[in-house]
Amino acid sequence: MLIKNALVYTKDFIFENKDLLVKDGKIAEIGESIAADDEVFDAQGAYLIPGFINIHVHGAIGYDVMETTPDELEEVSKFFMNDGVTSYLPTTVAAPYEEVEAAAKRFAEYMKSPREGAHVLGVNIEGPYLNVNFRGAHATQYLATPESFSIDGIQKAAEGQIKVITLAPEVEGAAAFVKAYKEQFKISLGHGGDDYEKCVEAFEAGATQVTHLFNTMPPIHHRNRGLIHAAFEAGVYAELICDNVHVDKSVVLMAIKMFGTDKICVITDGVHATGRKDGRYSFAGAPFTVVNGVAKNDDGNLVGGTSTMLQCVQNLVSWGISIEDAVRMATANPADAIGVSDVKGRIDVGMDADLVLLDKALNVKKVWKK
Ligand SMILES: [Zn+2]
Repeated sequence: MLIKNALVYTKDFIFENKDLLVKDGKIAEIGESIAADDEVFDAQGAYLIPGFINIHVHGAIGYDVMETTPDELEEVSKFFMNDGVTSYLPTTVAAPYEEVEAAAKRFAEYMKSPREGAHVLGVNIEGPYLNVNFRGAHATQYLATPESFSIDGIQKAAEGQIKVITLAPEVEGAAAFVKAYKEQFKISLGHGGDDYEKCVEAFEAGATQVTHLFNTMPPIHHRNRGLIHAAFEAGVYAELICDNVHVDKSVVLMAIKMFGTDKICVITDGVHATGRKDGRYSFAGAPFTVVNGVAKNDDGNLVGGTSTMLQCVQNLVSWGISIEDAVRMATANPADAIGVSDVKGRIDVGMDADLVLLDKALNVKKVWKK
């Protein structure tokens, strides 16, 4: 297929008026005026960007990925793709070992057969290595340490497809865990971080990321250091929920200046109420209520997001971030963070043809995936 007359978001993170040729699901050529004996799509000057990559999401349209059948997961994947997301990591919560193991197995199985909707790129394990004081919506009784909850069995069930694990730096054996597993998957510090020395130790051991920066960790104090200070100093990737609920707009803008447009990864942390009406739901086995799109449990704590990647990108642009930077933080950065940038996250020759056409108001007009 030949896409003509598009404002292509190039690998240099700028828009250029180009044609783009797709062959066998890959980007075959990008040029001024490509002539090919192929089906032609006229983009009519719209933005052509890489598909969004959501590296932290728990579900949507009534389905929690911990429990979905393959067909249900496909429905969720189709919902994401309509929103411009072409890849994502289904994300588990703290739960009994067998449940996490079964979910990991289902994701690995799902990845083997061609399905409609966004690609599942692997698994994000958010629980159970969390600090009880910063557990957020995760159930206390299922929190664990690397010793009491062996990741090897989960990785085996996932057929090696674990891409990210969240680890609170204060969890017993945290730094040793980072050293032992950093070649297998990325380690994202979060749901903890009140012991600055332990944060530094875990980053020095090889942790490369922070889980939903600002949420479920101590806030920045101007004298007492914690995870945010250590992450800033280490220059790591930072997930950021840009839904205007989890983090205030001005703090989002501050974080982008602090960490840089090459390190912030837009995520939704979406729960299964995403794409559904306000009402009563449950997450990780506990009830919560959604009012005006804000999901809180009965203790008044946020339980996750109900926004979409597109809404987050639109928010950033409405707050003064350039379209170029907002797109980068939702595509190239997450691909870099989880180590899939050889095929995903950028428009370049040889990359997977996961593409989204956005109109000038940043609404999705069309989505293609490899
Ligand atoms: Zn989460």
